Amino acid sequence: MYDVKSLKAEEFISDEEIKYTLKYAQDNKDNLELIDRIIEKAKLRKGLDHREASVLLACEDKEKIEQIYELAHQIKQDFYGNRIVMFAPLYLSNYCVNGCVYCPYHAKNKHIARKKLTQEQIKAEVIALQDMGHKRLAIEAGEDPVNNPIEYILESIKTIYSINHKNGAIRRVNVNIAATTVENYRKLKEAGIGTYILFQETYCKEAYENLHPTGPKHDYAYHTEAMDRAMEGGIDDVGLGVLFGLEMYKYEFAGLLMHAEHLEAVHGVGPHTISVPRIKRADDIDPDMFDNGIDDEIFAKICALIRVSVPYTGMIISTRESQKVREKVLPLGVSQISGASRTSVGGYAKHEMEEDNSAQFDVSDTRTLDEVVNWLMKLGYIPSFCTACYREGRTGDRFMALCKNMQILNCCHPNALMTLKEYLEDYANEETKKIGLELIDKELEKIPNPKVKQTAYEYIHDIGEGKRDFRF
Ligand code: SF4
Ligand code: SF4
Repeated sequence: MYDVKSLKAEEFISDEEIKYTLKYAQDNKDNLELIDRIIEKAKLRKGLDHREASVLLACEDKEKIEQIYELAHQIKQDFYGNRIVMFAPLYLSNYCVNGCVYCPYHAKNKHIARKKLTQEQIKAEVIALQDMGHKRLAIEAGEDPVNNPIEYILESIKTIYSINHKNGAIRRVNVNIAATTVENYRKLKEAGIGTYILFQETYCKEAYENLHPTGPKHDYAYHTEAMDRAMEGGIDDVGLGVLFGLEMYKYEFAGLLMHAEHLEAVHGVGPHTISVPRIKRADDIDPDMFDNGIDDEIFAKICALIRVSVPYTGMIISTRESQKVREKVLPLGVSQISGASRTSVGGYAKHEMEEDNSAQFDVSDTRTLDEVVNWLMKLGYIPSFCTACYREGRTGDRFMALCKNMQILNCCHPNALMTLKEYLEDYANEETKKIGLELIDKELEKIPNPKVKQTAYEYIHDIGEGKRDFRF
């Protein structure tokens, strides 16, 4: 029985409701009158529910799809402007007791190099990341109570925040670790994490259990209810995601939106971010094994529909995707991307030797951070290293209030420009710096509030004089 407010996984992600939704969407995929009404509703920028969004996903009318893309682009402009927030993943350990059949870290894979970083090695990784210009990390670790207990994760977070190399600093650590207890989530909150990220992988219970045959992750309910426990533990920024390519994408899409609706209904705040990874080739894993893969067109449609369905939720694309695909989906609503990622344990400080196969998946976009920053600016985007909300305590509903009051141009926009200026001063090559300085001059003019504009001019000038870490 479907109940958005239930705390039971099988009730807030009801299989029956998803199947009904898919049938409803299929029956109405050519109902242009209904589709127009849904698009009109989406134009109000208050989002769509899973049934409405699923009808648009099923619709194959080229003209309507074009309208959806235009709307996604417009909503992105209104809520996020042309800023793209940058981050990098940091793999701490690939020891894992689970048996996920799509991941090379699964416990039975005997030919992958198992590694766990010591605090000294973490320091070296963080210095390498700071030397690129990163300010925001997402730490990743397999599930292993012996090798990667919560104490190890907490100690690692402390180490990361403590390192200040030259002008570098990691100002926000997001955490992507296995589902855990309320008590452990409370400890993570106390350690000062940003977003807690946990991908559902698939919302279909039967498929979920087949894809996770062994280990604690096999428990569908425990995994699916993790975000409720995280919020109970005081973490109010949580990041959802599914691994597209595992189950039928229409099913996943409906499940993802139902999960977002559930968090909003129960906790009063929806997900902070949604990630849209697609399954990739990796050691011991062949994506061709999974026959529910999605092509680039459908992938773009999903991105656009996430943007119009949950306008206040950030959307993340990783280096799993190629430059070409990233270019296609950036205008459709992506707000965060990773750059210069290494998906192996210890991959930043020391470039991997050929025989080292500790990576979780193959990276498609292998450019340096400076190349990514340069490319974004040439496309008209502002690469942003902003972490201001987290540091000002604007999380959860306070962050949402910032978005809903449309204070983006008076807050996120100058913050993005100031953090970009820091990047240009400290890490960029000459060409990137030149493009960036011109962009900052142009973009400063767009700040509507004259007082904020004046202050932003002064701060940006002071950054050029060596001062750091200004924020609104
Ligand atoms: S997906 Fe996560 S839990 Fe599963 S094997 Fe990989 S690292 Fe372990
Ligand atoms: S001000 Fe807050 S919402 Fe805006 S870019 Fe910075 S961290 Fe994100």
